[in-house]
Amino acid sequence: KKTIDVLGVSFIYTTLAEFIAKLCEYANKGEKKFIITANPEIVMLARENEEFRELIQQADYVSADGIGIVKGAAMLGTPLPERVSGYDTLLGILRTSNETKRSIYMLGAKEEVLEQAVVRIRHDYPNVCIAGYHHGFFDWEDDSIIKEIQETEPDFIFVGLGAPRQEKWIHHHLHMVEKGVFMGVGGSFDGIAG
Ligand code: UDP
Repeated sequence: KKTIDVLGVSFIYTTLAEFIAKLCEYANKGEKKFIITANPEIVMLARENEEFRELIQQADYVSADGIGIVKGAAMLGTPLPERVSGYDTLLGILRTSNETKRSIYMLGAKEEVLEQAVVRIRHDYPNVCIAGYHHGFFDWEDDSIIKEIQETEPDFIFVGLGAPRQEKWIHHHLHMVEKGVFMGVGGSFDGIAG
């Protein structure tokens, strides 16, 4: 895979459409993937914090979330094709998954916000199977969320706990599952809830 380095973080060189297609292909194959959509704050955090830097290096793909990354790459003389945000990637996956009936798990946001987002997705993407969902204010010792994911085996697990919490959650639980494309989506559920 072609990547572009921006201040120590390797970003995938891709358009949004190619990225969505690639992730859906992984879902079709039942593969396990860890996706980070990184904005400038994540890059700065990676520079400051070695533990987080190592965590980022374990992701399968880091996409350029935010125009700041795209501009930074261009300024460094190694341009990226375009912005690939978590929100746009999530919407693209929902759109294509509505045609092929893939399943998703949603973790994050306040309970009422998440429930509203679930209602919206059920309405706008009726063929997408919502395997389960859980709000983002829980005890990390509680393993009921990962158990539900293990049992329902969703194709995609969208984690909207804000960065770097969502990346840490994915990193901590990834080894406990067999399959699934795990992606941090920041405040996307709030965006879908409207
Ligand atoms: N959030 C959560 N659990 C927490 C803290 C935050 O689920 O313990 C949610 C919050 O409700 C919001 C999202 O995480 O839906 C964070 O969105 P924000 O825009 O702050 O994150 P960013 O997109 O900047 O990473």
